[in-house]
Amino acid sequence: MPITLATSLAALPRVGPKLTKRLAKLGLRTVLDLLSYYPFRYEDYSTIIPIAKIKIGEQNTIRGRINLIANKRSWRRRMYLTECLISDETASIKAVWFNQPFITKLLRQGDEVFLSGKAEQGTYGLQFVSPTYEKTKKEQTHTARIIPVYSTTENLTAKQIRYLVKIALPLAKSVPDWVPPEIIKQYKLIPLNRAIGAIHFPANHHELEQARERLKFNELFLIQLKTQGIRQKISQERAPSITFNEQRTKKFVGSLPFTLTPTQKQTAWQILKDLTRGHPMNRLLEGDVGSGKTVVATIAMLNVVANGYQAALMAPTEILAEQHYQTVSRLLGSQKIPVALLTRTARSFNGKQLTQKELLSIIARGEVPVIIGTHALIQKKVRFKKLGLVVIDEQHRFGVDQRKHLKQKADSLSPHLLSMTATPIPRSLALTLYGDLDLSAITELPAGRKKILTKIVPPEKRQLAYNFIRDEIKNGRQVFVICPLIDESDKLGVRAATAEYKKLSEQIFPDLAIGLLHGKLKTPEKERVMREFSRNTINILVATAVVEVGIDVPNASVMMIEGAERFGLAQLHQFRGRVGRAKHQSYCFVFTESGSDKTAERLSALVSAKNGFELAEYDLQFRGPGETYGVRQSGFPDLKIATLTDYELIQRTRAAAEQLFAIDQALSAYPALRAKLAKFSSNIHLE
Ligand code: ADP
Ligand code: MG
Repeated sequence: MPITLATSLAALPRVGPKLTKRLAKLGLRTVLDLLSYYPFRYEDYSTIIPIAKIKIGEQNTIRGRINLIANKRSWRRRMYLTECLISDETASIKAVWFNQPFITKLLRQGDEVFLSGKAEQGTYGLQFVSPTYEKTKKEQTHTARIIPVYSTTENLTAKQIRYLVKIALPLAKSVPDWVPPEIIKQYKLIPLNRAIGAIHFPANHHELEQARERLKFNELFLIQLKTQGIRQKISQERAPSITFNEQRTKKFVGSLPFTLTPTQKQTAWQILKDLTRGHPMNRLLEGDVGSGKTVVATIAMLNVVANGYQAALMAPTEILAEQHYQTVSRLLGSQKIPVALLTRTARSFNGKQLTQKELLSIIARGEVPVIIGTHALIQKKVRFKKLGLVVIDEQHRFGVDQRKHLKQKADSLSPHLLSMTATPIPRSLALTLYGDLDLSAITELPAGRKKILTKIVPPEKRQLAYNFIRDEIKNGRQVFVICPLIDESDKLGVRAATAEYKKLSEQIFPDLAIGLLHGKLKTPEKERVMREFSRNTINILVATAVVEVGIDVPNASVMMIEGAERFGLAQLHQFRGRVGRAKHQSYCFVFTESGSDKTAERLSALVSAKNGFELAEYDLQFRGPGETYGVRQSGFPDLKIATLTDYELIQRTRAAAEQLFAIDQALSAYPALRAKLAKFSSNIHLE
């Protein structure tokens, strides 16, 4: 049977059941899988030198004839030793291999071979230790060229993979190219088949570069087609057109106890312009912690309400929903716009408690213009009369299901969507993962904010930190203490909130009021603690990561973080943003139980970074997008060959995708591309 791309690897020569299983461990089942398994690096064995020119410690490739080859049993070292003497016109050299007695069956006296490897000084002169070997042939696989090196698994060598790839390689010419010819031409790409051949066995560095470029293009282009496709789809939906109410907006802005910062004005304006269009806004508002995103969202909600539509604001936690309810009620109260709160446990409207049934029915009748809540807001059987805008706080985007759900609620019109996040999005991610979103950024903090002094505190200075805290509290300030866990667990040495609470209230600060806040507390208890902390009847709040997002207690001036190595930089930055929210000089004390260099390096970035953007770039570089943005969860495809540093290429693929959609919105002229995209989309969920 002839080999095709779909042929199982088990059908290839020298592939038995064991090898088949090992290959499957790497996800390699068919010939096509193998061809798509790109090397992770290369050895350049392409320069062949005379034996007399061999240099110690460098990679050398020589070509010579075998004078002698034999196995020896080394009793002292309990192993087989294969010794070989090889010479060319210039000199001879010895080569040794350990525990590979079969080599004497493959290489025999008189054979002409290539050896590649490092030379060492042995007892009897220079020698090769375990060099890569290969008899000279019409075309080399393992030596005398640029050699692909593959990542492997147990009991599978890169050499075995290389051997199989070489067998499969002629099939590269039957891999169909799904990129339209005009794009290939315009972007000067080499044919896909050639790229696949050359990514494994490049003739030279230039060809390898071209192959890389082509395969990266394919990978990034697919992502761009996907995000641009979502963009197209959204732009075809209809949404209420919200006209800008200049008079009410001016009145509202004038009622604020502060003036808006330049980029607050600018982002508000971008959002208001989006709202006037008859199709849904899909915008992400980013701005560092404390940059004042809430008031910008409130300006949008005000205009939506002024146009007779309802607006909803969703927060990730009940605590935060409660706080937004307070803030937004205060802000919009001056404009006579009533606000409701709807979470799993709380239902209030205009300051009054209602039953769930009462609240739901007045929302459905359209008598509540602004509704604040948790995700319960869109997941429960909540009916809106005329939903015009949904704002979602501290989340990067709306999920597909969320979006679908919202559409049903608003009849045939889709509401406008605004997400807000304090995690800055680096340029490359903005164009790929977030390519379907429009971005607005608040880039400055309100005037008068002081830089938060951040210190990594060694264990012996803990007492000094406590003394400092006591002084701050004497001056009327308040303090957060963040712990990675709620309860003490078997994870030794990790600080837990409940234990820390006990220690602080009984031993360190018995005379002060200490509060405890974590996710396992019942909502009324959480609310009581938050309320008391806001009123400054609690001096020190011991908490878990529940305070990560959004909590606003401007009187707090010290953020103390325990077990900092257990948090991401972006998260630590969020914690730090809980203080320094008013005129008081504020401090962040970072404690760690880990003495590792990596932790020290990461934490020092927290001290030196000027803003969240720097930290995000840092996290992206050192920990990858998965950890920084939770993109694994949001389905960001694993990049096989491209990286997020390929910024130029990302831009080019974006332009190419836009170009195609501009010619043909349904992409119907490109069946191969459509099929590829459909398959890709079913594997990832970017939305
Ligand atoms: P975040 O962007 O982190 O959500 P908030 O919206 O909670 O920030 O705002 C943080 C604090 O800054 C709030 O107390 C808010 O009233 C205040 N604030 C917002 N904008 C300004 C401004 N332009 N000048 C001064 N204070 C502001
Ligand atoms: Mg916020």
